[in-house]
Amino acid sequence: MTDEEEQAAKLFSGRVEFLLSAPQLKFLPEPIAPEIAFCGRSNVGKSSLLNALTGRKALARTSVTPGRTQELNFFEVGEPTQFRLVDMPGYGFAKAPPKVVENWKRLVRDYLRGRAVLKRALVLVDARHGLKDVDREMMKLLDEAAVTYRVVLTKADKLKASELEAVRAATETEAKTHAAALPVLHVTSSEKKMGIDELRAAVLADAEG
Ligand code: GDP
Repeated sequence: MTDEEEQAAKLFSGRVEFLLSAPQLKFLPEPIAPEIAFCGRSNVGKSSLLNALTGRKALARTSVTPGRTQELNFFEVGEPTQFRLVDMPGYGFAKAPPKVVENWKRLVRDYLRGRAVLKRALVLVDARHGLKDVDREMMKLLDEAAVTYRVVLTKADKLKASELEAVRAATETEAKTHAAALPVLHVTSSEKKMGIDELRAAVLADAEG
């Protein structure tokens, strides 16, 4: 591990605590700490990634019924709090009623546009599927809100090296066409702990930056 990764690992292995769930904008916490937002399709592996980053088994609940999680969940890191991780509601769930999708969009858009303490977003993409239209829509929301983001491939262990390289290259090429996407792509597996140390250090640097 690099010095930065060691420092990040130490911080993430310390206090990480659930703060609150905000189903509407008026329930957001006071904007008194930097925030890093985690976005991704339902089932992309967001809960697993949050658990891997923080070294916990069940910080974020895995595989909650899709559609039930229409809230922004805030977690505090550090003692005293250095920054917050924001678990954004998963998108792209099948058969969601239009009203649910509309509420999701409004909540996410309003949060992204109005949050001065939001330092960075992570857009999680399932390595088996690559970018889908719902991911593109999320990236567009972030572009429009001028929130810079890292694209993170998840479940990399599920692919052969050659398949993974093809998805990585295609995703990277497309990400470069988005105004607010950072040029680096993160390849991760929560299961095999691949790319986790690097991502943790990047999140800390983003929060401090
Ligand atoms: P969420 O809905 O985005 O929070 O996704 P979850 O974290 O609940 O993961 C969805 C499913 O993918 C679960 O069955 C996980 O066990 C699985 N999963 C998540 N991350 C990985 C990974 O890195 N590798 C593999 N093989 N499976 C994963």
